[in-house]
Amino acid sequence: MKHLTDIVLLGDPRLYEVCEAVKKEEVPALQETINDMANVILEFRAKYGAGRAIAAPQLGVMKRLVVINIDRPIAFFNPELFDCSEEMMEMWDDCMSFPDLHVWLKRHRYCKMRFRDENWEEQVWDLADDLSELLQHECDHLDGVLATMRAEGNNALRWVKRDS
Ligand SMILES: [Zn+2]
Repeated sequence: MKHLTDIVLLGDPRLYEVCEAVKKEEVPALQETINDMANVILEFRAKYGAGRAIAAPQLGVMKRLVVINIDRPIAFFNPELFDCSEEMMEMWDDCMSFPDLHVWLKRHRYCKMRFRDENWEEQVWDLADDLSELLQHECDHLDGVLATMRAEGNNALRWVKRDS
């Protein structure tokens, strides 16, 4: 079982790599990674009060795999975004790989995401607002792109002060 301390942090070269597509036959062997990812989200949320999703490279697994754990864990294999709206939204984004930093950036308000589910069925989700920005963030990880690279303006990085 992997834990919070296994999260790959800002500056680690693995976060800047393009991940490999998952093949159908790799899915059973990735189940342990999916469980680890779901667990790390819960641990992160218990410590920081936020955190809904993680990409495999953040645990050092260089595969195109994202897990969200909001009500229950859901795995997305080989997710691809398309039909991204021209309408953008601006926000402070955060990341488990740099939990004390917020980044001001823009994301598409709407997009669609094609992916394979755990039964290797192709699915398409329509994404808006919170889920749209969340999955844009996670899909960026699979291409080695971090929120810091999308920072908008000279005052786009904000240190988060914590009590403990
Ligand atoms: Zn992130």
